[in-house]
Amino acid sequence: MDTDVLVVGAGPTGLMLANQLGRRGVRAMIVDRHAGPARETRALGVQARTLEIYSHLGIIEQALQLGKRATGANMWAAGRRMARVPLGDSGRDLSPFPFLLILGQDDNERLLGELLAKWDMAVAWNTELVGLRQEADQVIAKVRQPDGTIREVRAAWVAGCDGARSMVREASGIAFPGAPYEHVFFVADTEITGPMVRDELNVYFWRDGFRVFFPMRGTDHWRIVGIVPPELRGKDDLTLDDVIPSFREEAGAGVVLQNCSWFSTYRIHHRRAERFRDRRCFLLGDAAHIHSPVGAQGMNTGLQDAYNLAWKLALVVSDRAGAALLDSYEAERIPVARRLLSTTDRMFSLVISGTRLAGLFRTRILANAMALAMRLERIQKLAFRTISQTGIRYPDSPLSETPPGLPEAAPRAGDRFPWVRLKLSPNGPAEDFFEALDDTRFALLLIGQPAPAGGVPGLDDLLRTHVVPSDPANDRELGRVKIPRLAFYLLRPDGHVGLAGTRLDAAAVTRYLSERLDLRLG
Ligand SMILES: Cc1cc2nc3c(=O)[nH]c(=O)nc-3n(C[C@H](O)[C@H](O)[C@H](O)COP(=O)(O)OP(=O)(O)OC[C@H]3O[C@@H](n4cnc5c(N)ncnc54)[C@H](O)[C@@H]3O)c2cc1C
Repeated sequence: MDTDVLVVGAGPTGLMLANQLGRRGVRAMIVDRHAGPARETRALGVQARTLEIYSHLGIIEQALQLGKRATGANMWAAGRRMARVPLGDSGRDLSPFPFLLILGQDDNERLLGELLAKWDMAVAWNTELVGLRQEADQVIAKVRQPDGTIREVRAAWVAGCDGARSMVREASGIAFPGAPYEHVFFVADTEITGPMVRDELNVYFWRDGFRVFFPMRGTDHWRIVGIVPPELRGKDDLTLDDVIPSFREEAGAGVVLQNCSWFSTYRIHHRRAERFRDRRCFLLGDAAHIHSPVGAQGMNTGLQDAYNLAWKLALVVSDRAGAALLDSYEAERIPVARRLLSTTDRMFSLVISGTRLAGLFRTRILANAMALAMRLERIQKLAFRTISQTGIRYPDSPLSETPPGLPEAAPRAGDRFPWVRLKLSPNGPAEDFFEALDDTRFALLLIGQPAPAGGVPGLDDLLRTHVVPSDPANDRELGRVKIPRLAFYLLRPDGHVGLAGTRLDAAAVTRYLSERLDLRLG
């Protein structure tokens, strides 16, 4: 065998997977057909859930320093600022990172790419997967090397992180049904002055669509994403200069373009792979699902596909778990992709529909309706949970088990464990519990009860136990997230609840781990 895992594609998804495997002791081989990292920014929004993962990875400080926190979104229509939606306030109690970080895909890829060296890994650039065949115990992948020769790589598992035109998907015979949207999009990195509110998102609704200005590093640097005006569709060699006049009509003559460093047009498809796995091959990121950029979900979803698969793959590769654990990858991530496609599709149809009525709705009603709705705390929190991806849950996963006994409102199996600050030692300060979590291990959180006398047999090095001391501040904090005074939570390495209940029975934990996760308890 040449490698345990062959990662095809060094975009954000492949780099995240390789890093997560590397820090768990699995040295994957990573190949990419390009000559080096992508230069374009492409995706821009890094969501709170991704930042939580970056925090465990040790790259959060760099990401926060490089990026810009978007604190609000301003809605414009017919040249007037109609409303401002605060971003962040609503997520204050929900995540240590209650904001959208504006950080280009190139910067994300650079941070993730540089981190590979820490695990003694590197991307093999100019190396393209050109075909593969599966045998019972291995995959034989054909890769074209930089000198043009073809090499056969034997891998136990292959991760297709190779984007929308995935060769892994094609060679696995997995269909990618869906369709393109009729509209053509443009994306431009610019230096531009105008009425836009600095350091915030500016969303311009107009009769024929929308434009979003994302604040970038530096002064007057904006990424503009929008729809090519109908009269310019099909024009060869389109540039931003062609688009600016129509924008001035909507936003006023004050918009002055100083410089444009990148301009590109593209058509968006909405598609989802029918399966995310064919025996020893997996699909992740754009190889598995593509959709409209509304909501800045694309890159983040790929990063989280990787986070979901990595801990499972690492346990299987190191022989701590049987291959059945891997079935849960698509059982958990297909429903996420399905929901994502339908929500982004609905939102997208609303903001691009070309009918006169939709145009009127956009310019007269939408911005105000959004601002009004966002005044309701419940809606604000729901919006934050949905957009930040902290609300993603796997309640129907084969790995989720909540025996009867916990109150309805308490966090349950499948939920991302809520963000809390707890005193973890009787006289210590309240700590960010996410910082105390080690995401390369399982965690057992015990409330109102001591640790089981003999521990959880067979899991020693894979489990950290946290006994929460009885304390009024802890009671208040646990009450805030609806956790009762007697409870236990077994968290998977990715921070989702696997098993939850009231009084812990160590034998039930052992049974859960061996039956549901196929873990080999030593
Ligand atoms: C113009 C544009 C603007 C976008 N804007 C946004 C946005 O604002 N927000 C958002 O969330 N998303 C946006 N996206 C989507 C976002 O870029 C993707 O969701 C993200 O790149 C997916 O990452 P990935 O790693 O899964 O795939 P990719 O980034 O596509 O990476 C796939 C990698 O696989 C490599 N590869 C492909 N085939 C092979 C092969 N056979 N052998 C070896 N290597 C191979 C490629 O070279 C590439 O490096 C945008 C996309 C485009 C094109």
